[in-house]
Amino acid sequence: MATISLRDEATSLLQELIRLDTVNPPGNETRAAELLRDYLGESGVESELYARTPERANLVARLPGNGNGPSMMLLSHTDTVVAEAGEWQFGPWSGELRDGEIWGRGALDMKGQVAANAVAIATLARDGFQPEGDLVFVAAADEEVGEGFGLPWLCDAHPDAVRVDYALNEGAGERLELLGRPFYICSSAEKMSSPFRLRVNGRAGHASVPGIADNALVKAAPLIERLAAYEPKLQLGPETSALIEAVAGRPLQPSEALELAREVDPLAAELLEPLLSLTLSPTMISASSQRNVIPNVCEVVVDCRLLPGQTQAEVEPELREVLGEGDYELEWLEGHGGTRSPLDTPLWDAIERFVAEIDPEAAVLPVCVAGFTDSHWLREAFGTVAYGFFPMRAMDPQVASRLVHSADERIAVDDLELAVQCFRQVAVEVTGAS
Ligand SMILES: [Zn+2]
Repeated sequence: MATISLRDEATSLLQELIRLDTVNPPGNETRAAELLRDYLGESGVESELYARTPERANLVARLPGNGNGPSMMLLSHTDTVVAEAGEWQFGPWSGELRDGEIWGRGALDMKGQVAANAVAIATLARDGFQPEGDLVFVAAADEEVGEGFGLPWLCDAHPDAVRVDYALNEGAGERLELLGRPFYICSSAEKMSSPFRLRVNGRAGHASVPGIADNALVKAAPLIERLAAYEPKLQLGPETSALIEAVAGRPLQPSEALELAREVDPLAAELLEPLLSLTLSPTMISASSQRNVIPNVCEVVVDCRLLPGQTQAEVEPELREVLGEGDYELEWLEGHGGTRSPLDTPLWDAIERFVAEIDPEAAVLPVCVAGFTDSHWLREAFGTVAYGFFPMRAMDPQVASRLVHSADERIAVDDLELAVQCFRQVAVEVTGAS
C-alpha cells in the first residue's frame, strides 16, 4: 500500500464506489458505507455506521485530536440520482477509466469527493498525522431525496458524532477566468428553498353557462402574470460584495455589477444573478378535474428562493403587494436552507493558501448557490462554518455542470488527485498538527 500513489489510490476507490449502485430511491447506501469502513480500516482509521434502517447507513470516521484545536469534517454523500443506462456511452455503474477520466453516475455528484476525502484521511493516518482537533470524515446517505435518513437525522439522533467547528462539502470549486484573471469559486452561502401555494377562490358552475359561475382558473391568470413580471429589488450580501470587489477591483452597485457580468461572461452573470435577489417561478397549477365543470378553486405552486438571511415573514408583504387585491390565500409550503458562513475564518484562509500554491495568479471567490446542500444542517445545528469546495481545473466548468445529474457523468483524474492534495493540506492546517 505504501507504494501506490494518491492518484491511483483515489482512482481505484472511486471506481469501486461507482460500481455500487446507490441510486436514491431506494439508496442502499450501506454498500458504500461498508466499502469505506473497510478501506479506512486498512489505514487504521476507526469508523462507525449509523443507520435509521439497516440498508441506509451513514458512515462517520474520525482521527481523534487531543482537544486543543478546532475540529473539521470532510463531508460528502454516497447516494446518487437515477441513471438511464441507454443514454450513456459507458454503463453508468461501469467506473470506466478512459482518456484520463472516470465515468459513472456520481463521478461529480459526489462520489469523486467521497473518494478524495477518504484517501485524504486514510493517507494522513498512514503518515502518522495526529491532529489537535478531531478530523472527521462523514459519508452521508439520502442527500438527493432527503427523507430523513442522512445528515439531518445524524444531527438530531447522534449530534456528538457530527458536531464540528468546520466542514468542507460539495457546492463549488470550479476554476473560472473572468476579465483575464483566474478564480476558484467556493460556496459559503445557500439560498432558501421557500415554495408557496396560491389558492384562488371562485364559484363552480356548468362550463356551458360560464356567466353563472366565477372561474377560479381564469382569476389565477393575472396573478401568475404579475408574479412573472415582478422584478425584485436587487441587494448586496457579504458574499456578493466580496465577489464583485474581487472581480471588478472596486465596489459596484448591484445593477452595474450585473451589467458588467453580462459583458464579461454568461457564466459570471449566471453566478451573480441569483445572489442579488429572491426569485419566483410559478411551476404547477391545478383546477377543475372535469372538462365541463368550472373550477371553484385553482391552486398555483410557485418555486421561490430567498436570499440567505431573508425570512418568509419579511418577504410576504412584498409578495402580497405584487399580487394585489383578490380572492386568494397564500401559504408557504416549506423553508429549507438559506444559511451562510462568514468568510474571515481559518478554513477560508487555508483554501486561499492552497489555491495560491497551485495557481499563483488565482483568487478565491465566495458564491451563494441557488440550491441547498447538506451544509445547512451543520450550520443550523451547530453553527459550523461550512463551505462547498472541490477544486476543479482540468474539466471545463460548463461541461461539468451539464454532466451533473445527466448522462455521461465523468470526472478528470487530474481533478480527483488535486482534490486529495487540497483536502489533506486544508485538514492539516485547520485541525493543527500536534
Ligand atoms: Zn450532491
